[in-house]
Amino acid sequence: MKIAFIGLGNMGYPMAVNLVNASFPVIGYDLSAIQVQNFTNEGGEVAETPADAVRDADAVISMLPNGDIVRNLYSGADGLFAKVKPGTLIVDSSTIDMQTARDMATEAQERELMFIDAPVSGGTAGAAAGTLTFMVGGTTDALERARPVLDVMGLNIFHAGDAGNGQLAKMCNNMLLAVHMAGTAEALALGAANGLKPEVLSKIMKQSSGDNWSLQKYNPVPGVMDGVPASNNYEGGFMVNLMLKDLGLALEAATASQQTTPLGALARNLFALHAGSGQGGKDFSSIYKMFDNS
Ligand code: NAD
Repeated sequence: MKIAFIGLGNMGYPMAVNLVNASFPVIGYDLSAIQVQNFTNEGGEVAETPADAVRDADAVISMLPNGDIVRNLYSGADGLFAKVKPGTLIVDSSTIDMQTARDMATEAQERELMFIDAPVSGGTAGAAAGTLTFMVGGTTDALERARPVLDVMGLNIFHAGDAGNGQLAKMCNNMLLAVHMAGTAEALALGAANGLKPEVLSKIMKQSSGDNWSLQKYNPVPGVMDGVPASNNYEGGFMVNLMLKDLGLALEAATASQQTTPLGALARNLFALHAGSGQGGKDFSSIYKMFDNS
C-alpha cells in the first residue's frame, strides 16, 4: 500500500517514520522545510506539493493542526479529493471539529473514496513508540482497510461509530486530560509551596486516589520525570495552543447539545490565560508555571 503522509510535525513525523520502518512506501509533505528534511534523513521520500504526494497513493494520512486546514487540503475543485486515484483510502488523524470530519466523509463518499476520522491519543512518545490509541469514526469497511496501517502506528484501535465520532471521543478525552493536568499542577504546586518536594508528592499520589495519566506519564514539574517536556524546558510535546483548540471544540459540542461542562470551561479559561501570557508554543504541561510560586 503506497501512502502519502501530509503533516510531518511533532506527531506526524514519528508516525510517518514508523511506517517507513515497517517497509511501507511513504511520500511525505509538509509546509516546513525543517520537517521535510528530518523525514528525508529517516529514509522517507518527499513531494513538492500535496498533489504530487497523493498522485500514486493508495492511502493518504493527514496529521494537521486544525479543521480549516484539513478542509482546505481535501475539499473543493483544487482539493486532494479531486486529485487522488478512485477508491483511495483517506485517514485524517488530526484533531478537528466533528462537522468538518462529517463533511469530509460525505464529500469523500460522493466521490467514491473512503474516509475515516482517526484522531489519536498517546502524545509524541506514543507516536514514536507506535503505541498510539486511535479513535475511529466512519464505516467498518474503511476501518478494516486502514487497520494494517493503523496497527503500525498504534496499539489500541477503537471504532467509535459513524463519521465524526472519532473526533467526539477525542475532544471528550482531551477535555478530561486538560482538567487532570491543571489539577495535578495545582496540587503539586500547593505541596511545593508548603515544603513538600514534587517528586515525593508525585510518588505518593501515584499510589493514592489522586493518581491519573498526567502523574503517571507526563509529570508537569521540571526534573521529576525523564523524557517529558517539563524536563526539556516544556519544548516539543503537545502545544498549549493545540490544547486550547481542543477545549474550544469540546465547548462547541457542549453548546450545540446544551450540555453543562463547568470543569472543561474552567480549564479552557486557564489554558487561554496561559497562552495569552506568551506560553502558547510551549507544551501544555507548562500550565504548572501558572501555579508555581517558587
Ligand atoms: P505540529 O504543529 O507539530 O505539526 C503540524 C504540522 O503540520 C507542522 O509541521 C506544519 O508545518 C504542518 N502543516 C500545517 N499546515 C499544513 C498544510 N497546509 N500542508 C502541509 N503541512 C502543514 O502539531 P502536532 O503536535 O503534530 O499536532 C498535529 C495534530 O495532532 C493536531 O490536530 C493536534 O491537536 C493533534 N494531536 C497532537 C498531540 C501531541 O501530543 N502533540 C497528541 C494527539 C493529537
